[in-house]
Order: sequence, then C-alpha cells, then structure tokens
Amino acid sequence: GPSADAYRRQNEITVIGDNVPPPFTSFESTGFPPEVLRVVRGAGFKAPTPIQAQSWPIALRSHDIVAVAKTGSGKTLGYLLPGFMHIKRTGKNPKMGPTVLVLSPTRELATQIQDEAEKFGQSSKISCTCLYGGAQKGPQIRDLEQGVHIVVATPGRLNDIMEMGKISLNQVSYLVLDEADRMLDMGFEPQIRKILKEIPTRRQTLMYTATWPKGVRNIASEFLNKPVQVNIGRTD
Ligand code: ADP
Ligand code: MG
Repeated sequence: GPSADAYRRQNEITVIGDNVPPPFTSFESTGFPPEVLRVVRGAGFKAPTPIQAQSWPIALRSHDIVAVAKTGSGKTLGYLLPGFMHIKRTGKNPKMGPTVLVLSPTRELATQIQDEAEKFGQSSKISCTCLYGGAQKGPQIRDLEQGVHIVVATPGRLNDIMEMGKISLNQVSYLVLDEADRMLDMGFEPQIRKILKEIPTRRQTLMYTATWPKGVRNIASEFLNKPVQVNIGRTD
C-alpha cells in the first residue's frame, strides 16, 4: 500500500519478490512476545531498523530472504527474533540437535551473535552455543551434548565437529548465512557446501551480505528457495 511504499522510499528499502508484506514500522506491530519486547525496550531501542522492519514480516511468513545491507544496520536481531518464533512454533527437542544454525565468518562475530541471542532469548528460555576455532573443542562439544536450540558457528570449526560425529544437523530448519560475502572471501565455500549437505532441504534459509558479487549470487540461487530480496541503501 501507499504507506509501505513511503516507508520504503524514506528508508531506501527496495524489495524484489511477489506479494512482499508491508514493513513493521513499530515493535508493537511485530507480534513478538512481551518478554522479548521488554528486553528490546530495555536496550533503549525506539523502532525497528529498516532491515528489521522489512525482513521481519517476510521471515515470519517462513519465506527465504536474501538481504543486502551494510554493517551496523541491525541484521542480527533481523534474523534472531524470527528465529526465536520459529523455535517456539516448531517446538523441537534441543537434545535431538539444534533447530537454528547461524554461520558466521569469524570467532569475534560469532560470539557477538551468541551474546545477542542470549540477551534477547533468555527470557523465552532459548539456549544457544557458539563453535569457533582457536579454542578447545571439549567444552563446545559438552554444550552440544546438553542440547541447544541455536548453534552459531564458524564454518571451519563446525566442519571439524561434524567430522568428529559430535553434532547432528538433521533438525535444522532455520539456517542463516551471515556475512556471506565475507565467508566466501575467506575461502569457506567448501566447508559451507559440506555443512549444507547435512541440513534438510525442507527449511527456511536467510542470507545476509554487505555486497552482491557473483559468488554470493551463485550460492543464493543454489541454496535458497525463491527468496525475497531486500536491499537497504544504495547497493551494487
Ligand atoms: P549488523 O549485523 O547489520 O552489522 P548488528 O546487528 O550488529 O548490525 O547491530 C548493530 C548495533 O545496533 C548493535 O549494537 C545492536 O544492538 C543495535 N541495534 C539493533 N537493532 C536496533 C534497533 N532497532 N534500534 C537501535 N539499535 C539497534
Ligand atoms: Mg552482523
């Protein structure tokens, strides 16, 4: 409608896809549970960022998304909060393996995502662990054995733990490829492909990238199912 168009114009949002729902311009309109909105308000956030406003309604309809937006635009909560809803809706036992998998290029980014997942998910009893290199595998494997809803991982360490037979990805039904362009620049494509082979194709996939080069477009067309594309700002 006209107000959705005006909001998109004002916030430099362009969408490519059929029947794209209008953006959520306030937190109240998201339908996220009160315990999550309390934490959002406690963090001092006044309104969704443009990527959140436009990608939340799409993600909540279980559509695949490719989002092209630069850093600092609030992408983490853009995929985490719909991920929490997905976990609640599917209601799987975390002991059987994670429901949500987030792939991230570096240890630093992965731990930031885990911190955000814990901060916003704790009140909904959502559990999360982080797998990254340069640290002992034992404690990471023990966390997996406890059972967690969300695993945030760098592709290299996740591959190592897969090869040890210490993680099962057959319950994953919400997959996030965060900073996809950076993961490909770092040479993680072979590991990403091995991981994707272990995840059921019946899933929701969300891909976030700051740039939109050929390698990223190829991965998107190979592994996403009719994604809605959301671009924020001027992108190339
Ligand atoms: P990106 O992944 O796009 O680089 P982040 O998800 O790391 O961005 O978010 C950048 C910063 O903005 C973080 O400190 C985050 O807590 C904050 N943030 C996220 N959503 C909002 C919001 N709606 N309003 C204000 N700040 C937000
Ligand atoms: Mg990020």
